[in-house]
Amino acid sequence: MTTTRPRLAPSRSQKRTMLSPLAAISRRVAHGFSRGGREFDHELAFLHHSPVTLPLLLTLLAAAPAGAWHGNGHHRATVLAVKALPNDLPAFFRDGTPTIAHCSLDPDLFTRPIAPEALHKAESPEHYIDLEILKGAPLPPLRYDLLAWCAKNDVKPYKLGLLPYAVVESTQRLAVCFAEYRKWPHNPAVKTKTLVYAGLLAHYAEDLTMPLHTTIHYNGRVKPGRAPAKTGIHQNVDALLGKLPKDVRIHLDPTALKPFSGDLFTAVLAELNASHALVDKVYDLEAAGAIPAYESPLDPTGPAADFARDRLRAAAAFTARLFLTAWQDSAKITLPDWHKRPAD
Ligand SMILES: [Zn+2]
Repeated sequence: MTTTRPRLAPSRSQKRTMLSPLAAISRRVAHGFSRGGREFDHELAFLHHSPVTLPLLLTLLAAAPAGAWHGNGHHRATVLAVKALPNDLPAFFRDGTPTIAHCSLDPDLFTRPIAPEALHKAESPEHYIDLEILKGAPLPPLRYDLLAWCAKNDVKPYKLGLLPYAVVESTQRLAVCFAEYRKWPHNPAVKTKTLVYAGLLAHYAEDLTMPLHTTIHYNGRVKPGRAPAKTGIHQNVDALLGKLPKDVRIHLDPTALKPFSGDLFTAVLAELNASHALVDKVYDLEAAGAIPAYESPLDPTGPAADFARDRLRAAAAFTARLFLTAWQDSAKITLPDWHKRPAD
């Protein structure tokens, strides 16, 4: 453990001169993965003017982290969530921790540059919501009611984002899987797909706890009348969870790990608002030079590490509570008689 104070961040021009050409390309490729590949269209335009060979590009793409909370952050949060679950859930679920954590990275595969355009365009908005665009209008509980609001108010759903709906609908998909498990507890296919669906839910839940996935200021403060900012803060914050020491201890209060009672959409909005409330804190940390550049290590004693631990805890706790909610709600689902599984 180092006790050094976080160094002041270099200026943007300093950063430019500090990066090697390869690091600069890697940074820009990685940057393009932010927010479900949202910025990739613009960020990769530079490749048309750069002497980057295809093998080099493929190598960089393979190395580039994806989406919010880069892959190792999602993996960490998901493992923490499953391990913290009380014994209410069936043992196969806890035993499936590696599969759930593996699948928690997958929604970012469904965005660019890996996914073709149709899938990318549909999937990308599932990873964020820019709450300021609503201008105070309440989010309706149903996805298509929001789409109707967008049409009426000339808002592009792709710009606004649909993250809370991805969280709610993924929780309900998992509840249906659990309902099948309750009926066919020995069916291996039901168990396997339950782990996959849980991993997908974990991704969206964890994205929601990343403050920059809730705001128009997702990659730098947006100034009125100006084009969206692209300071690179997004990927620097995305990388924080994965930079925490491997032996970091995150304590989740077992008494707080309960399923959500009442309306699920309301519970998701509460977590969304809590995450959004931290946007200013993120920018305060940046202004204080506390958030390390993408290529730099994290001072485990500094304020950015405190922030990362808080967000890792929030991501894991929220995910665990959604798993518990899906299990709880699955008991209320009655599978119709016509629904059979041939193997049973
Ligand atoms: Zn994501």
